[in-house]
Amino acid sequence: MTDLILTINAGSSSIKFALFDAGGADELLRGQVDGLGTHPRLTASEGHRRIVDHRYGADDGPADHGAALAAILSMLREHRPDATVVAVGHRIVHGGPDFEASERLDDTILARLQTLCALAPLHQPHNLSGVEAARAAFPQAIQVACFDTSFHRKHPWVNDTFAIPQRFYDEGVRRYGFHGLSYEYIVVRTRELGLVEADNRLVVAHLGNGASMCAIQHGVSVASTMGFTALDGLPMGTRCGQIDPGVLLYLMTEKGMTLEELTTLLYTESGLKGLSGISNDMRDLETSDAPAAARAIDYFVFRARRELGAMAAVLRGLDAVVLTGGIGENAASIRHRILHDEEWLGISIDDARNDGNAQEISADASRGKVYVIPTNEEAMIARQTAAILQGLPTAAPA
Ligand code: ADP
Repeated sequence: MTDLILTINAGSSSIKFALFDAGGADELLRGQVDGLGTHPRLTASEGHRRIVDHRYGADDGPADHGAALAAILSMLREHRPDATVVAVGHRIVHGGPDFEASERLDDTILARLQTLCALAPLHQPHNLSGVEAARAAFPQAIQVACFDTSFHRKHPWVNDTFAIPQRFYDEGVRRYGFHGLSYEYIVVRTRELGLVEADNRLVVAHLGNGASMCAIQHGVSVASTMGFTALDGLPMGTRCGQIDPGVLLYLMTEKGMTLEELTTLLYTESGLKGLSGISNDMRDLETSDAPAAARAIDYFVFRARRELGAMAAVLRGLDAVVLTGGIGENAASIRHRILHDEEWLGISIDDARNDGNAQEISADASRGKVYVIPTNEEAMIARQTAAILQGLPTAAPA
């Protein structure tokens, strides 16, 4: 039998998974169950080879996370009969103020993480359902929590607080920052690739359905555009990004909006979807002729440029920018619009390299380097889980 690590990233209607060797270095297989609750589908690939693509019928599909994990488990038994899952690494969006590194999960830690569900309602409850399901499916394996917040726990206080009375900070009302697994992966990856400029003053833009930027100095996060929740900062697929809190007071007092209505508005009806009235998906907006689609992209680009300047100001200049996430990795036109005319920041891009999705898209004359690097949160989860298996420290690199 071969000892393996399974990584799980459980969202509201999907579970993404990947299988790694017990050292957490080699990915053997990855896949997902998506369409949970509507039209479930199980797909899996080994490298570029699709090994499973199963659309369930109306009545025979997995109805919840537990059933989805059972389907994944039986698929793994069929395709990897020699595999023993010795550890399951979970992406957990919110670790609160306490967790600076990944942790082996037990009942006490799970109970603490449950109390954070209100701070990440789109993700945390599903992440924790994934843990429950994995405990049932793999009772012999250790379960490890890998947090999106851990990478940011070294923020200096000024980047960790809001200007409200200190007692709220003491209670945990802080600027946590998210996408930490993605940022940590990018730091590790730039080091593996020998991109030395990225080790000094680096801004990473994770532009996907969720979007944020992070200022990183010598491998340590010093600022992030996301805050107490994953609503703050850049506009996203359906989330608003930065908003004047006075708008919320107005919507409550003058429009009589309830807490539930506000939550739905800010998390699922805003961002690109809200501005365009068309879609949360950048590809749909780029191919649309509607003026509202163009305006939504204009706002996305404007806020990205503004936050890039802010992150560079925190770092007092920059030596490298990395773009990642679905938009950052693929949307050359959006990259161009964010990064052109930024010579004042010491960066200029080469249009041919950008259009060709090259790894380095900065021009030869550019002082700061600009890279496009695909993120791999699963790889980071696997490495952290392997470290826990081996009893090694798992704190973010410095
Ligand atoms: P998530 O945050 O859910 O992991 P992704 O990182 O996959 O999301 O990013 C999804 C976003 O990336 C969507 O807005 C999608 O339209 C966008 N995207 C993916 N490929 C392209 C492309 N070729 N051109 C423009 N946008 C793209």
